[in-house]
Amino acid sequence: MNLNSKIEELPRIHKTQIAALKNLGILTVQDLLLHFPYRYLDFTKTGKIKDLKPGENVSISATIKSITSRFSFRGRMSLAEAVVSDNTGSIKVVWFNQPYLAKNLKAGDEIFLAGVPEYYNFGLQMTNPIFEKVSEFPVHTSRLVPLYHLKKNIYPKTFRNFIVQILPLAKTVVDIVPDQILKNQLLISIGETITTSHFPKNDEDLAQAKKRLAFEEIFINQLLAQKHKLELAQKKSFSIKFDQPLIKNFVDSLPFKLTVEQKKASWEILQDLEKSAPMNRLLEGDVGSGKTLVALIAALQTVNHGFQVAFLSPTEILARQHFETVKKFLANKIDGRQFYSLALLTNNYSQIGSKNEAKAKLRKLINDGTPGLFIGTHALIQKTIKFKNLALVIIDEQHRFGVEQRAWLFQFGHKVPHLLSLSATPIPRTLQLAFYGELNISQIKHKPAERKPIITKLVADENRPKAYEFIKKQILNGRQAFVITPLIDESDKLGVKSAKKETENLLKIFSESKIGLLHGRLKAAEKEKTMKEFLENRLQLLVSTSVVEVGVDVPNASVMVIEGAERFGLAQLHQFRGRVGRARHQSFCFLFSDNVNPETRNRLTDFTKVQDGFELAELDLEQRGFGEIYGQEQSGWNFKYFDLHYTSLIQPARAEALKLLQADITLSAYPLLEEKIKERIVHFE
Ligand code: ADP
Ligand code: MG
Repeated sequence: MNLNSKIEELPRIHKTQIAALKNLGILTVQDLLLHFPYRYLDFTKTGKIKDLKPGENVSISATIKSITSRFSFRGRMSLAEAVVSDNTGSIKVVWFNQPYLAKNLKAGDEIFLAGVPEYYNFGLQMTNPIFEKVSEFPVHTSRLVPLYHLKKNIYPKTFRNFIVQILPLAKTVVDIVPDQILKNQLLISIGETITTSHFPKNDEDLAQAKKRLAFEEIFINQLLAQKHKLELAQKKSFSIKFDQPLIKNFVDSLPFKLTVEQKKASWEILQDLEKSAPMNRLLEGDVGSGKTLVALIAALQTVNHGFQVAFLSPTEILARQHFETVKKFLANKIDGRQFYSLALLTNNYSQIGSKNEAKAKLRKLINDGTPGLFIGTHALIQKTIKFKNLALVIIDEQHRFGVEQRAWLFQFGHKVPHLLSLSATPIPRTLQLAFYGELNISQIKHKPAERKPIITKLVADENRPKAYEFIKKQILNGRQAFVITPLIDESDKLGVKSAKKETENLLKIFSESKIGLLHGRLKAAEKEKTMKEFLENRLQLLVSTSVVEVGVDVPNASVMVIEGAERFGLAQLHQFRGRVGRARHQSFCFLFSDNVNPETRNRLTDFTKVQDGFELAELDLEQRGFGEIYGQEQSGWNFKYFDLHYTSLIQPARAEALKLLQADITLSAYPLLEEKIKERIVHFE
């Protein structure tokens, strides 16, 4: 047998077990070796029978004195009872529902038992302990015992036994991390990592294995990021000179002053635009921090040099909103001239300036290379549209766009447009390189000063009527409110049930108001329609599930109600809250939760006190780990082993990755790495 042997070749493997393993994606011996435990039971403490204490994990080595099996509870349950002893005493052992057991064990056998002794009928007893025959290398007892994610038809013991059989092959696994890097970073080899992960000698050993796996992951991540960064730096883009009078003139014309951070971010972007290599920058800032305006400055500069700018939004309503904003701020302001072209293209809208125009006309404008700012949704990046003169792409809420859309950037002949991504998901500084290693980052951490903090309250259920009265008053004053509902249960994945139920309930209470409803089963067009009605204040309340992102700017909304608040992470709560407080009037966020767990109450109370998205993101990370927060689907973000404990590995991993790439960007000397990168890479060409 070798690493590539099929699992079918394992001795005594059963058909159902083969199916169960395949179900887990395990096809070969190597796959099996790389299926690591998710947790360990600590049965390292071995004891003598006379020293056993109730409630403590322990392993003992003993001889079976007697063993019998029978059926109890009207024959429905099998029961095996044994008495075992060592040279210090004896103890009763009971196993339920393991009918095969009495066949395997007989009086006189020497066995290890692992379990928790408890008092039963005045004496200590072990119930359902794990057992195995005494040996030099215990697998199921007397050690840190590995637990695996498994499917039915395959028992933990069976799985461990398979692993034991093939464990000697671990040392033949070829290491993807180059030797020199292992040496530099004092990391153990992959062979040792595999052996240790399955059967660690102790916690320190295990920590070495985990660290090694985390390093590998963040190393590959950094390799990908740096490779992309270096390759991009080789490409040519449009060098767009900073036109100071133009920008100054524009900024002076605004009804407000730019914040310091907005100015700094604009400056960083304008400098990138001057370079002949493409910009790849992320503008990160809380909802409502004023990112759009910064993006507009970049757009203005670019268009004014006679180029095209594409501004992509994830939804039609957001695209329209940006379009209106731009019309308000930019029209006629450009260098004293008429704006070249300002157009909107979505599935349902096709506008040039303020006029509706045929899509074909807009397409021609773009394909001819007419300078201008083209705002839209995915509709802008269809095959029939070929920007001829595209120098800057702005992507709003970049995480909502997939890999293919980013690949779209690289199809415009010899030059690559500059890319500016906007994101409202705050990533703590310590993790930025892990998540956005290939990007340059500008941050806006503070909202415009005139914005008031959103008054946030965790409302006790008995005060619910009061809260509703309060919202009624807000509505009477012309304001609007959001209500977010959590998913009730597994069967309600789209949130249809919960949101509908809440709407019915609110209709009775807010009988004078119009209420809109958003849930996961609505078609995109229906969602857009409802959001539009809310935006125009034809609906006063909008009930929405968490699965529907209400990424709209409704400055008139002043209340955000979140039901079942305990079910959301802090970062997510913050995203919801950011939907209000987008204008001058005081806004409110009310959390409801019937969860009485003190930890949960504390978490929600923390939220009522903290307004800063970055701070909340950090708290959230500490509490839940980032897999939960940032989603697994985003490319490069699906870490399995790397987590908050390993942030100190990011810099060294990055440095090692850079060293390799600088020597040879194709990595041809490292076939395994080369292949891995190919698997993961977004095809940019
Ligand atoms: P984001 O895209 O970051 O969520 P926006 O760019 O939509 O935020 O800005 C939110 C609101 O704040 C908009 O109405 C915008 O006009 C306004 N705004 C932007 N910058 C400032 C500023 N410096 N002072 C006051 N208001 C601002
Ligand atoms: Mg925005």
